[in-house]
Amino acid sequence: MTIPTESSVRASELRSLINRYNVLYYVEDSPEVPDVEYDRLFRELQQLETDYPALLSTDSPTQRVGGKALDKFEQITHSIPMLSLDNVFNEDELQAFNQRVCDWLNTADTPIYAAEPKLDGLAISIRYEQGILVQAATRGDGAIGENVTANVRTIPTIPLVLHGESIPDVVEIRGEIFMPKAGFEALNQAQIEAGKKPFVNPRNAAAGALRQLDSKITASRPLAMYCYGLGEISGDSQALSHSDAMQLLAGWGCRVSPELETLNSVAECLDYIERLGERRNSLEYEIDGVVLKVDSIALQQRLGFVSRAPRWAIAHKFPAQEEMTQVEDIEIQVGRTGALTPVARLKPVFVGGVTVSNATLHNQDEIDRKDVRVGDTVIVRRAGDVIPEVVQVVLTKRPDDTVKFVIPSLCPVCQSEVERVEGEAIARCSGGLYCPAQRKEAIKHFSSRKALDVDGLGDKLVEVLVDEGLINDSADLFSLSLEHLSALERMGEKSALNLISALQVAKTTTFSRFLYSLGIREVGEATARSLAMTYLTLDALKATDEVQLIEIEDVGPIVAHHVVTFFHQAHNLDVIERLLAAGINWPLEEKAQSDSFLSGKTVVLTGTLEQLSRSEAKEKLLALGAKVAGSVSKKTDYVVAGRDAGSKLTKAESLGVEVVDESTLITWIS
Ligand code: NAD
Repeated sequence: MTIPTESSVRASELRSLINRYNVLYYVEDSPEVPDVEYDRLFRELQQLETDYPALLSTDSPTQRVGGKALDKFEQITHSIPMLSLDNVFNEDELQAFNQRVCDWLNTADTPIYAAEPKLDGLAISIRYEQGILVQAATRGDGAIGENVTANVRTIPTIPLVLHGESIPDVVEIRGEIFMPKAGFEALNQAQIEAGKKPFVNPRNAAAGALRQLDSKITASRPLAMYCYGLGEISGDSQALSHSDAMQLLAGWGCRVSPELETLNSVAECLDYIERLGERRNSLEYEIDGVVLKVDSIALQQRLGFVSRAPRWAIAHKFPAQEEMTQVEDIEIQVGRTGALTPVARLKPVFVGGVTVSNATLHNQDEIDRKDVRVGDTVIVRRAGDVIPEVVQVVLTKRPDDTVKFVIPSLCPVCQSEVERVEGEAIARCSGGLYCPAQRKEAIKHFSSRKALDVDGLGDKLVEVLVDEGLINDSADLFSLSLEHLSALERMGEKSALNLISALQVAKTTTFSRFLYSLGIREVGEATARSLAMTYLTLDALKATDEVQLIEIEDVGPIVAHHVVTFFHQAHNLDVIERLLAAGINWPLEEKAQSDSFLSGKTVVLTGTLEQLSRSEAKEKLLALGAKVAGSVSKKTDYVVAGRDAGSKLTKAESLGVEVVDESTLITWIS
């Protein structure tokens, strides 16, 4: 058969590409493309070699296992080769595999299969002599592996000595070393914090951790192992089946998968695959499929193996959780609280069971770390319900004309300045009062109890008013008419009237409540009060700078920066002007009375007050210069105990702190 030129050119292209990816994956533990891409290329090459057998050569990657052992390790020749596994991806291919098994065995009966999770780690062979761990080797190219004995000895789940009955003089136990998900997350967090490159996935993290020259590094990484097979073994065989062998290993103190089941038909295998697939994301470790093995060792021996994989086993792979696609654009989303999140708009790609067209890029630090640019080809990961994320850029596929992405300095929604506080990852829009993306949250905050306390204006109603286009910012609240409100669904005339009068009442407030209601970042009640008492007027506060602000107790550089930036946004100032024009007012001076006998005293409020609300009482006490604390200690000067006071009262009594009732409090504040 003549081979079309394009097929032989493509086959050689595929061979060199796969060989390159093999080196990156097996030797350098740093893959460049996701496994699905590798599997696609591998299958394409297999297909070409099936169609044109003359293309097949013994050095083709389809005929070889893994990658070459690294020279930096002593090399170990496996007495029995460590093979790979062939893959199937769907029911038809699984049926075809079973049919091949039956044909080779010359029987119509499906054999019993042992099913186990396909762990996503790296294969290891551990040799025990007289029950003592003497050697451990990686798979390498299947024939020669790397001596990693010292490193394997540091892994807690691997016994250094086997216990139990009938341990052979020599036994080689094979299995998968992997890194549990939680350990992987923690390790990557530590890598990022130390300014080091995080690992792409737990498989590469495990491989990197095991293939270290310094076993102290291996010891510090969270590795574990499940055993799934036997290599060389002295004496008579003690197990007739794979499942028996696993029991034997468990009896000697080795960890074997608790998920192992024996199955009697392809239907049972499919059911197992489905069940495990459903639990995939909740398992503590990564799996990428199910391995099915003919259980009987006698049948396994009859079936033997071809080139790189046994004929008696198959890996049924799960749908990929990582795929490759292109970044078509990077857009900025402004959240309800002003946080700017860069989002990659992707060429739609099917991954983790859904079509993904967006992936969060989190923040500027993440973008810098991964250097994601518009036009890049990226690896996208979606596991379970987790939000899709860009794992890494495929740099070799980067076009020439890309530019680094930087979050803009003006909010894309309202053009206010974008702030990024040193040490904080998130950039935020500073147009809190005005920005359409933030308006609902801003208005809810403005009218909340501790702010302007507009009775009857709940969160739901704010949402309706904004959605109906009746208000755009908090100042608009004061132009709402009875007509507007009573036209709303489920708003009777009485409630509308009540709301209008509540808005009227709310107009008279205090300077500190007003400042708090503006929703300046990090300015809570206490800071608003300090600002109000220090500056006394809005004009004075607007005219201040960061240097003066940080002189105030409990105002640090971050708060100072937020305050100054807030009052520098023209849009915010415009809303404030309109609020004042609508009639918001407060007594001119709000100053803590330093001559009050409560000045500097610490007071704790507890129990139910009858005549004042907690916040009113607190406010009045603060105005008298008192500090209002949440818990009783030796430093407490007074405890005001209302009805049903509980543990705070008991504690005050036990510490000998003076306890007063509500009427005393009223006398103080009046
Ligand atoms: P494999 O991972 O498809 O299957 C064989 C391996 O499965 C065994 O060697 C063993 O380590 C492991 N395994 C896990 N659980 C097992 C169990 N219960 N019983 C038996 N074995 C179990 O084959 P491979 O040769 O190790 O690797 C090929 C795969 O690696 C590819 O299909 C691809 O997904 C990935 N790969 C990716 C890249 C890349 O660039 N992304 C490059 C090379 C290989």
